[in-house]
Formats: sequence, C-alpha cells, structure tokens
Amino acid sequence: MISQAGLTMYRNLRIVPQLIFGRGSVHQVGDIVAAQKKKSHCPAVLMIDEVHQEKGFVRQLPIAADDLVIFVNVDTEPKTSYVDELTRRVQDLSSRQPCAVVGIGGGSTLDIAKAVALMLTNPGSSSDYQGWDLVHHPGVYHVGIPTLAGTGAEVSRTTVLTGPVRKLGINSDYTAFDQIILDPDLLAGVPREQRFYTAMDCFIHASEALSGTFINEFSRAFAEKSQVMCREVFLGDIEEGVADEMLMVASYFGGMSIAYSQVGVCHALCYGLSYVLGVRHGIGNCIAFNQLEEYYAEDVRTFRTMLKKHDIELPKVVTGGLSELQMNEMIRVALSLDPLWQNALGPEWREIMTSERARELYLRM
Ligand code: NAD
Ligand code: ZN
Repeated sequence: MISQAGLTMYRNLRIVPQLIFGRGSVHQVGDIVAAQKKKSHCPAVLMIDEVHQEKGFVRQLPIAADDLVIFVNVDTEPKTSYVDELTRRVQDLSSRQPCAVVGIGGGSTLDIAKAVALMLTNPGSSSDYQGWDLVHHPGVYHVGIPTLAGTGAEVSRTTVLTGPVRKLGINSDYTAFDQIILDPDLLAGVPREQRFYTAMDCFIHASEALSGTFINEFSRAFAEKSQVMCREVFLGDIEEGVADEMLMVASYFGGMSIAYSQVGVCHALCYGLSYVLGVRHGIGNCIAFNQLEEYYAEDVRTFRTMLKKHDIELPKVVTGGLSELQMNEMIRVALSLDPLWQNALGPEWREIMTSERARELYLRM
C-alpha cells in the first residue's frame, strides 16, 4: 500500500487467469497447447522435472514432432545461469518463437519454466531482472503444472532464482502463469520427507502472512483456510488421496495469501541459508521456523507436533562450522530483504533485527 497525493493506493494484483483443478486433469494440457498453436502455428516447449522422465503421465502427454521436451535438473535450486543456458538451448533448437512454455514439476521446475518464458522475449541475462518490476515485455504464454504442493509457485508473480549476488525473485506481472493445471494425482509417490517439507512451506507462508503487519482480510481468508487444511492433513485422520487434493488447494491458498501480503522472519533467514549453504527452500524454512517460537509461538508448537507425528528428523547444527565470512554473507542476504522484515517487524525493523540478533538466530540452527 502506498500513499499518493493524500490517497491510499492499493496494489493491483495480477492473478493467474485460468485454472483447472481435478484428478487426471493433466491430460487437458493437450487442448490448452493446441489452442495456442492455432494462433501462431509454432511448437511448444515442455520443461519437465527429470524425476518424471519414466512416468506414465509423461509418456501420455500429446507431444508433436516439432515440440521441444526438455527434462530439467533440479538437484540444486534454479540459478540464473541455468535459466540462461536453457533459454539459449530453446533458441538454438527452435528457429521460431514457441507458442507456449509448459512447466511440470515442483517449485523449482515451475520457476524455471516461468523464467525461460520471460527470457525468450526479454534481452540479456535473467539476473538482470532479479528484483521488482524490471521486466518490460510479456513472456511467451506459460502453463504451470505442479507435482509437489506447498510453494505456491503455481500462483505467484515471482520466479525465485539464485544469481551472482543474491537469491531473489524476478517479480513482475508478466511472471505469473497464464494457465495452471492442479492435478492431485501428480503428487502420488512424492517421498515422505519432501512432501512434508514442501507442505510446511505453505503452512509457514500462512503463518507469516497472518502474523505480519501487512495482513488484510483478503490475505487472511486464504491464509486461515490454508492452515486449516495443513493441520487436517498432518494432524487429522485424512485418507492420503483426499490429503493430496487438500494440499494442492492449501498451496494455492497459501500463495494467494502472500501475494497480497508478504512472508516474514522465517523466509528471510531461509534465503540466507539457501544462498550460503545451498539448503533447499522447504527444509530450510523448517529448520528456521523450528527456532522462531518468539515470533510465531503457537504455529511453531503446532509445527513441532506435526514433525513428531510424521517422524521427521530435521538436520541439526546446520550453521556449525561456518566461517565468519560465510556467516556475515548469510546475514547480509537475510537483512537485504526489506519488505519481509517490514511485514514481520514493522517499519522500524532495523532497530529490532540487528546483525547481532540475526547471528544469534542463525547460531541456533
Ligand atoms: P523442488 O521443485 O525443488 O523439488 C524437490 C525435489 O522433489 C526434487 O528432487 C524434485 O525432483 C522432486 N520432485 C518434484 N516432484 C516430485 C514428485 N511428484 N515425485 C517425486 N519427486 C518429486 O521442490 P519444491 O519444494 O516444490 O520447490 C522449492 C523451490 O521453489 C525453491 O527453488 C524455491 O525457491 C521455490 N519457491 C518459489 C516460490 C514462488 O513463488 N515462485 C515460492 C516458494 C518457493
Ligand atoms: Zn516459501
């Protein structure tokens, strides 16, 4: 919210305009791509997490001879250099601008697909666009199909990338997908721990939104429902199939919630952990959140109950053995995220979250 000539100006939120939800809906991607091909007669690019390479649903995707299928590697979270390399690969392999980019995978793959769609129409390196509203041209039409639930990447206007100087999203109205397909069947077989960590990302999004200073009734409604669903899935007695459907929706709601508010202390500290130690987003948030009872009291206790019930053992002493240089870098990255701290602690946050305080919190992890 900003003030202009005495008037309050509210954010004009760009949301994903088209959505399909339902079991087995992934097969409808064929019709969606066909509609784009009708307009431009150009091939489509499918960017699929390589973990799905041998899966039945991938073999059944309607892929034309001139479409490009790229299996992406997400052993590490996406880097700007990888996005640039993939963009060049698409440009080298296809003389025509693709009619659509389809991303199928977890948050990392969705972010890669969003970023490549943008970089096909914008010059330079993806690292040039890390920040807020730096993208000038709409990307290629892009479709997101999540195969993990929790990040909210399917609905957000950002693609989070690690660049040469920081881990920061390309935040813009052009980043959001044009179409998403939420098919709970695609969550089948996700390893137990990964499912938990990514789902907790969503629980934490809601927690940080609800306790932040940017909260409003729009965000609250999404965040509350998202948390209710996470609690039912991880503390209730829900059958796994139904739980997958709930997690898909919880992720979307958590994403919608932060889209019109912001995340907070946990995400800021997690960004530092990821940048310096390469800790992945889901598990990094869990490690940080576990130490943040002072900020998110009741939710941290609920989170610990979930951990226990699901027999999840978090890594310990992650920051032990860090050099002074690495610790300072981690603090620098975390404290550079001004909007997150403003949301969590208010406009005077720098007086509360000093480098010493951030160091103290990191040393507990
Ligand atoms: P991920 O995409 O990084 O994947 C984690 C692991 O799970 C990978 O090994 C992947 O191959 C595997 N995997 C994915 N789907 C699977 C399936 N169905 N079955 C088995 N394995 C599967 O995990 P994530 O937690 O979904 O995403 C984290 C990423 O999302 C980070 O890069 C983070 O920065 C980003 N993120 C983006 C936003 C956004 O709004 N754009 C928000 C939060 C997080
Ligand atoms: Zn997150």
